Amino acid sequence: MTEPIYLDYNATAPVRPAVAEAVAEALSVTGNPSSVHALGRQAHRRLEDAREQVAALVGAAPAMVVFTSGGTEANNLAIQGAGRSRVLVSAVEHDSVLAVAENAEIIPVDENGVVKLDVLAELLVVSDEPALVCVMYANNETGVFQPIEEIVKLAHDHGALVHCDAVQAAGKTEIYMRRLGVDLMSLSSHKLGGPQGVGALVVSDGVKLSPMVRGGGQERGFRAGTENLPGIVGFGLAAEISMTASAEVSKSKLLRNELESRLMDAAPKAVIYGRNVDRLANTSCIAMPGIESETQVMSLDLAGVMVSAGSACSSGKVRTSHVLTAMGAGDEAASSAIRVSFGWRSDAGDVDVFLAAWLELYTRHHEAPSDRATAA
Ligand code: PLP
Repeated sequence: MTEPIYLDYNATAPVRPAVAEAVAEALSVTGNPSSVHALGRQAHRRLEDAREQVAALVGAAPAMVVFTSGGTEANNLAIQGAGRSRVLVSAVEHDSVLAVAENAEIIPVDENGVVKLDVLAELLVVSDEPALVCVMYANNETGVFQPIEEIVKLAHDHGALVHCDAVQAAGKTEIYMRRLGVDLMSLSSHKLGGPQGVGALVVSDGVKLSPMVRGGGQERGFRAGTENLPGIVGFGLAAEISMTASAEVSKSKLLRNELESRLMDAAPKAVIYGRNVDRLANTSCIAMPGIESETQVMSLDLAGVMVSAGSACSSGKVRTSHVLTAMGAGDEAASSAIRVSFGWRSDAGDVDVFLAAWLELYTRHHEAPSDRATAA
């Protein structure tokens, strides 16, 4: 059987071989990082080395890193732990933000998916209640970046805290958390080529946070429970490798741009979302009007190409994308988008195979009935 063409890095990246080795090695070593004996101290050293690696990825100090079970837990901890009764969230946040901040006020985005700063400014002045503002660094469906520096400035001017979900952006673009001034930042290992089920909330100095998981004093009291040391070791190494992998990002960008320009030449009815603004180098969100995203994903799957429906949710079901709807896309477009995302193992052959399979479906659907009669 031929190898599948994997173009779904924003869902999860293949684990890097060096990371798999480091995780296996860490699993073979005994020691609880909280134990005071020699093996415990060695485990503790490994934990702290990984903390340094993760902190370096986002320009933070190691003491700011709180390890969690992933990006979802980091987002939950940020929103629940900050304890602000007023929460403002962008309309394009991941479900792990939207579902936690249930009564949040929504900050709308423009047609490119970028937060409307003027509306955020208005929302911030209508109440004296200090808020928590949640805006992601880059969107998981479209890759579109948000103006985080401006958002931080506006929010801080009004006494609000800023939480930034950087799960998709970390490792794909340079992030300097301390320069940005963000108060809380979420990260996830498996988007970087690390193991699944591990992540971090990076907490700026002086930010008051209540733990969600209570018990022992691990993670400076912010997250109780014996740490997932093998996972954390893998996360640390994946973070370190990603930091020096700018060539991977450049390659992803070349592949993504080639895919988009060849696709638009051959399929003028297609729509690429977020193409006119700064976005992640590896992500393309493409709508093929008239064909449900689920149908496209299944048809590509049969051709051995793995992508996501732009609107896939974690249960595997496909629904209309709230991100594209927030950008003003009609129902048809919002339910016919797929997400193609590249990463460290992608190559030019992947673009060819994807385009052949996608264009076959497009041509079958969009060719004029008279052409079909002739062909028959
Ligand atoms: N935030 C964003 C933007 C994501 O894309 C994801 C995962 O797809 C998450 C959070 C959740 O991360 P995790 O899978 O580590 O829970």
